[in-house]
Amino acid sequence: MERAVLSQVTSGTIRGVEAYLVRVEVDQSRGLPSMTVVGLPEGAVREGRERVTAAIQNSGFDLPPRRFTINLAPADVPKNGSAFDLPIALGLLAGTGAVRGDWLAEACFVGELGLDGELRPVRGVLPLALRCREQGVRTLVVPAANAKEAAVVGEIDVIAPASLQQLIRHLAGRERIASARVDPHALFAEPGGSATGLDYADVRGQELAKRALEIAAAGQHNILMVGPPGSGKSMLARRLPGILPPLSLAEAVEVTRVHSVAGRLGAGQALVAHRPFRAPHHTASEAALVGGGSWPRPGEVSLAHHGVLFLDELPEFRRTALESLRQPLEDGVVHVGRARHSVTFPALVMLAAAMNPCPCGHYGDGAGRCVCHEGQVRRYTQRVSGPLLDRIDVHVEVPALPPRTLLARGAAESSASIRDRVIAARERQHHRFRSSPGIYANAHMGPREVRDWCALDQAGETLLRTAIQKLHLSARAYHRVLKLARTIADLRGTDAVSAANVAEAIQHRNLDRTRAHAAV
Ligand SMILES: [Zn+2]
Repeated sequence: MERAVLSQVTSGTIRGVEAYLVRVEVDQSRGLPSMTVVGLPEGAVREGRERVTAAIQNSGFDLPPRRFTINLAPADVPKNGSAFDLPIALGLLAGTGAVRGDWLAEACFVGELGLDGELRPVRGVLPLALRCREQGVRTLVVPAANAKEAAVVGEIDVIAPASLQQLIRHLAGRERIASARVDPHALFAEPGGSATGLDYADVRGQELAKRALEIAAAGQHNILMVGPPGSGKSMLARRLPGILPPLSLAEAVEVTRVHSVAGRLGAGQALVAHRPFRAPHHTASEAALVGGGSWPRPGEVSLAHHGVLFLDELPEFRRTALESLRQPLEDGVVHVGRARHSVTFPALVMLAAAMNPCPCGHYGDGAGRCVCHEGQVRRYTQRVSGPLLDRIDVHVEVPALPPRTLLARGAAESSASIRDRVIAARERQHHRFRSSPGIYANAHMGPREVRDWCALDQAGETLLRTAIQKLHLSARAYHRVLKLARTIADLRGTDAVSAANVAEAIQHRNLDRTRAHAAV
């Protein structure tokens, strides 16, 4: 059988948040006119074949009646998606002479083709651009809607045509498409702001809860708010990203990688420049929370990477879904899928959770409005398993507000002003953990770091011992109190952890106190 390699085009595919270069080889042989793609799942091949042939014809080119074989190499890299439409079309056209092979060298091409030849956006362009830069590929050709995402990377030439036809005119030198450019630092020009754009200045009262959120933000501690419906738990949580330190460019690139492979970037969006805030509904499946699918996609815990994952109505979540969050909360990464298709996504989040104190919501309000039996209250709180609670350092009560607080005049402290203290406390931690890999905030300290950095004076020691006896604190809870006290001291700008810091920390371990009370 007569067979010849007609052309070769570089493209790429994604796996997890990494991209890999793929070589698209087009062969032709005699026989009935057909097109076979080797190395792609069947569904994607069939649809892609139709899109590619229609796009070529509708762009004014003809394919000769040959038998084409398209091979995607290396064979052992799993490939997925419509991003191969463009390189396949170019490979076929190079075979017919409509496109010269040497125009395709030194560049990488991705894009989905519409039937009319229009180029449509694809997922994972930012990781691909990073890979191209690493491997010395000089030019990356992407659909126009992906231009900024690719250009963020810098050092590579990004060409972003609107259609196959326009790209061919550009390659032939008949039209010049200007290289896409983005100044990533300009995206950070505005230091304030947050993903939700909300400010604590708008929240009256709830000073204890706000202080708890400030401590949580300062030490990257997970936080649980307990209070009746309407007390403002969700309002408080939504403002949390606004008091976290701004993302660095490197962090923003990491966050954008995840949103890029999830197909969550807006058209023309270059970077996710603010810390994400994700609030999945309590009906969310395990796969929606931690990621999944036959071609694994990131879940909410990864979309919240470097930001806040907010779980409202915590006891209403499926138990299996909550259990699936334990490992990512512990490790900061999540493993999704099985065997050959298993991938790892980043998942370094601050967890903020909220719950009612009982099914009716009024338990412990002092007004006797709760209609639940003791057993119902206990079962409700036990739906949140001990191991998950063990990963939450801060527990705070968010009571219903008396009407006079709601009517009070004057604004509360702004998020910007709270954030200044948080940033100062984080800088102290950054300095403290500069030679401790994997630890960058107090919440991540292990027993050894707690011993090294949370030493108490005599008064603090006495206070903590008394609290342990009275509240029956476990060893884990004891460590958590010390970590919180460390963060409180950091917010005050002091190296020593004082008795007053310990006392405040115990106050923010509300569930230890209520559980101890229930046990008595
Ligand atoms: Zn109740």
